Amino acid sequence: MDEDGSSVAVGKSGSEHSHSARLKKAGEIKAMGRAFATVKKRQKANIARVADLENRKQRLLQTRKESIGNAGLLKQAVESLERNGIRVRMTGTREEAVSLVLAELAGEKLVVKSKSNLTKELGLTEALTDKGVEVVETDIGDRIVQIIGEKPSHPTGPASHLSKQEIADRLSAHFGHRIKPMAEDIVGLVRDEIAAYISSASVGITGANAIAAEEGAVLLMHNEGNIIQVATRPGKHIILAGIDKIYPNIEEALNMLKLQVFYATGALSTSFINIIAGTSQTADIEKKLIKGVHGPKEICLILVDNHRSEIAGGDYRELLYCIGCGQCLLVCPAYSVYGNKFSVGSQLGGRGVVYAALNGEGADGGELDICLGCKRCQKNCPLAIDTPTMVSKLRLERHLKLRQPQLARAYDFVRAHIDWIDDALALEATWLLARLMGLGEGKGKDKG
Ligand code: SF4
Repeated sequence: MDEDGSSVAVGKSGSEHSHSARLKKAGEIKAMGRAFATVKKRQKANIARVADLENRKQRLLQTRKESIGNAGLLKQAVESLERNGIRVRMTGTREEAVSLVLAELAGEKLVVKSKSNLTKELGLTEALTDKGVEVVETDIGDRIVQIIGEKPSHPTGPASHLSKQEIADRLSAHFGHRIKPMAEDIVGLVRDEIAAYISSASVGITGANAIAAEEGAVLLMHNEGNIIQVATRPGKHIILAGIDKIYPNIEEALNMLKLQVFYATGALSTSFINIIAGTSQTADIEKKLIKGVHGPKEICLILVDNHRSEIAGGDYRELLYCIGCGQCLLVCPAYSVYGNKFSVGSQLGGRGVVYAALNGEGADGGELDICLGCKRCQKNCPLAIDTPTMVSKLRLERHLKLRQPQLARAYDFVRAHIDWIDDALALEATWLLARLMGLGEGKGKDKG
């Protein structure tokens, strides 16, 4: 097995190896394209069922404008949460956030975790693993990419770029037996492994889709049902959320969730929306208050800044309006050719690359050059976030810093398009070759 778990014959030449890598990448991009096409088809079928879609988007935009960087709203949220018995810790940097989580774990060596883009931004899993804590992802897609050491390709569909054949091949090594390329079998196997970890863990870590300031509540949305199990480990529930996740109240937070799920999946709702506004508790025996009856004894919310305050106060403020639906990725022609190569760290696509340049994850400029400036992301974003203008602004800043002539900007624009055409043609040629060789789409079909 090579480092990514796929089978590579011993003694393969360099060119054969790179040819295999190209076939693999082409297969991943095609699998991602099929997954994205399914979401777009579902969006088209369901759009008429979302009442007042345009009004909802306007209402959300107004809420985001008023909430981002609003110190008064943040203060109100902290007071309400603490009144409900949720301990709140505020933290500035990535390192501080990791230290706080370690302190909250208080020596626990196993922790189960649900999907959270913030924890990816913080590199939390890697940091905890370095300290000897076993961190187990509990979302099926996230657990798959964790086991096989892959990078996610979509904020809510992390394994979208992997075909069932590829997943089955690569999980076989982890489980030590041959796994059939059938979605049901794969899900059952991964679920059973996750369930065993969940029942052994005392502490669970989740993100938060939203925090409602008025009620002091945390909203969590999911389809798999794993999040509520993670959130109800008996010892402690640790929640990590960016300070940009604060909404004035539950109603506005639900409006965002409705739009987020529609743009991320094409559905009108996820299977579950949990609202947590305190611990499970009873005073049924002689009025003595007992906490943690059916859930954790303690809930700790870590509110993370990590450059958000700076961004909220500057020219790139709009970036923080993002609700993480990933709609921009579905329509981006660059992402459809490059996949998650158009990213920096955990930040995917054009908006992600701009965000990474500002939040300390770093972008060396090469990723910015991938953007074609076509504006499709902006036109299709529910909040009309103007990513292309932000990309151009960052490119210009880089040119000025390097004292490059203005002509270089035009050169970059032309080069991005030539590279894109070149890579799109190469992708199609590789994919055609893979199909002629009997690899690709036909290979992964369920037979049962
Ligand atoms: S402007 Fe850039 S990031 Fe946006 S859709 Fe076009 S190529 Fe993608």
